[in-house]
Amino acid sequence: MTAYVYLPTHIGHTFPGHPENHKRLTHTWDLLEKDGILDRLLRVDCTPADADALTAVHDARYVDLLAQISASGGGMLDADTYVTEESYEVALLSAGGLNNLVDTVCTGRAENGFALLRPPGHHARPVHGMGFCLLSNVAIAARHAQKQHGYARMLIVDFDVHHGNGTQETFYDDSSVLFFSIHQYPYYPGSGDIDETGAGTGEGATINVPFPAGVGDGAYLAAIEEVLKPAARRFDPQLILVSAGYDAHWMDPLAQHQVSIEGYAAMIRSLMALAEEVCDGRLVCTLEGGYNLDVLPHAVLSTLRVLSGDPRGISDPVGVPHGKGRDVSVALAAVKRRHGLS
Ligand SMILES: [Zn+2]
Repeated sequence: MTAYVYLPTHIGHTFPGHPENHKRLTHTWDLLEKDGILDRLLRVDCTPADADALTAVHDARYVDLLAQISASGGGMLDADTYVTEESYEVALLSAGGLNNLVDTVCTGRAENGFALLRPPGHHARPVHGMGFCLLSNVAIAARHAQKQHGYARMLIVDFDVHHGNGTQETFYDDSSVLFFSIHQYPYYPGSGDIDETGAGTGEGATINVPFPAGVGDGAYLAAIEEVLKPAARRFDPQLILVSAGYDAHWMDPLAQHQVSIEGYAAMIRSLMALAEEVCDGRLVCTLEGGYNLDVLPHAVLSTLRVLSGDPRGISDPVGVPHGKGRDVSVALAAVKRRHGLS
């Protein structure tokens, strides 16, 4: 069984003309309904994350600031991160929804899950939101799983094209959470270099795979097979959380990678196999980026079909890009050396 969460009131968090707007999810929802796949999935409710869940990751003063900005009608956290009157409530319900989805998977009511949520979260720092992100959903969910389900070791996989700087910062000195990110580099938000590997007891528990512009399916899959899998086997996580951003797609307007929907499906299959191997299949994905409105709905539908073993396979109206994508064997060898994996 595959479970999902969806929060219809995400529409209250939107800003005309901004790439991270409500159409990303309403278009996706419309396609999922038309497809019929939702009838075979388990829907989980969104309830607000409580203060303890939020402050396990975020500074209480920042959470209060976010509430105040919403209460006063909205504003900007930085040049590209907006807050509306409804954003605080949407962000609380989104974070709580992901926690509920984690509970559903960790108690065995579903094997895996996907959170159809926005705003995204992986750029949100403990002390301040940024990069379209208000609350660090995946980090809050990791702390929730540790507290509620007693997990000592969590793995967070981030395949959004941007580096998950907020997630990295949250767990940088923490050996209980292995953070693995593939991203375009150098690029927004500027972090994610190969030498950012963690600090103190968390040294080695941050793995960055920075790729230049132009890489595609082969590079992402090789990073998962050659770097993530041996590192995950060594770490032995009890739950895998995925920051699933789809902005590495070759038609995405916000970056220059060349991943296809088939490539995303192959990554999900690979992560499911890893989860099966190390943690009884427990895999919870949450939406991060993805800004082409003709691509994102099909990428999410295809992910849900793979997660739920749907025999119809993927849904891809746009296909694969021309060319093979850049060779990354030298870059991967460097990451493996840095982490003692070769
Ligand atoms: Zn992104």
